[in-house]
Amino acid sequence: MILHSFSPVVAIEEPLFKEKKVQVFMKRDDMLHPDISGNKWRKLKYNLLFARAHGFRKILTFGGAYSNHIYAAAAAGKAFRMKTVGIIRGEAEYAGNETLSFAKACGMELFFVSRAKYRERHSEAFHDELREQFGKVFIVPEGGSNEHALQGAKEIVEGIPFPFDYLCTASGTGGTLAGISTGLAEGQQAIGFPVLKNGEFLNNDIRKLIPQSAQRDNWKLETGYHFGGYAKFNMPLIDFINDFKHRTGIPLDPVYTGKMVYGVYDLIKKDHFRPESTIVMLHTGGLQGIRGFNARHGNLIL
Ligand SMILES: *Cc1c(COP(=O)(O)O)cnc(C)c1O
Repeated sequence: MILHSFSPVVAIEEPLFKEKKVQVFMKRDDMLHPDISGNKWRKLKYNLLFARAHGFRKILTFGGAYSNHIYAAAAAGKAFRMKTVGIIRGEAEYAGNETLSFAKACGMELFFVSRAKYRERHSEAFHDELREQFGKVFIVPEGGSNEHALQGAKEIVEGIPFPFDYLCTASGTGGTLAGISTGLAEGQQAIGFPVLKNGEFLNNDIRKLIPQSAQRDNWKLETGYHFGGYAKFNMPLIDFINDFKHRTGIPLDPVYTGKMVYGVYDLIKKDHFRPESTIVMLHTGGLQGIRGFNARHGNLIL
């Protein structure tokens, strides 16, 4: 499978959009690769290229037992012929789940650490320990969000071949939103929909991710669409995801993209967007997570 950075942008037609006089599109980064979740590939791309150019043969990164990033890093590492190590939060009993089985099958070496130890994932002392244990490794932070990630996420904006006003994305670490912000033209705005509770903390994280010289007032967070927190949900969200797929043919995942698209529809209903404006929703992928979600919750997602 060749790794590339081109994905289609498709129009979404709904009576609601006609009524509210907005045009809505979806950038299908879920179609970039069957295994490497859209925005995770965007964020890994320049990390892998940088690591290879600097003589590294092994990438080490961090994530939870159901992490899209771990899944993507394992697959991207394999495609790049780079060895991969995943530092996994929690107990080894998760090693058999869909995400981690896939990562292992890609050749990723999994190393489980306690929740307490996992909290040290940004600490240099812990990184030194890991280098001692695993040898010469290029360390990519959780979610892949660092300065190399911004460069890849910027290409999302460059890949939208027409003028638009708003670019909406689900936010976990905020790395994708940060990169998008650096690529927008004058007058365009990026809107992030945090999938974690109390998502306001991301304002700070995002500001820290963007270099001083690239800071712009062209992004904001809509923090009211977390549905109780990470991987939490209710039946209206599930119904929305299933109905959306039925009407458009486009699958959404319940952890990220489902919440963002739900939020965009709700904001359109509430006249949040300027009339005659063009809104692009970014499909960041994450569809591998549906299998695990359905295994845990009884096939709610159709
Ligand atoms: C990780 C992920 C996100 C969040 O991206 P951040 O850059 O961490 O904000 C959004 N959507 C999907 C599908 C993801 O896997």
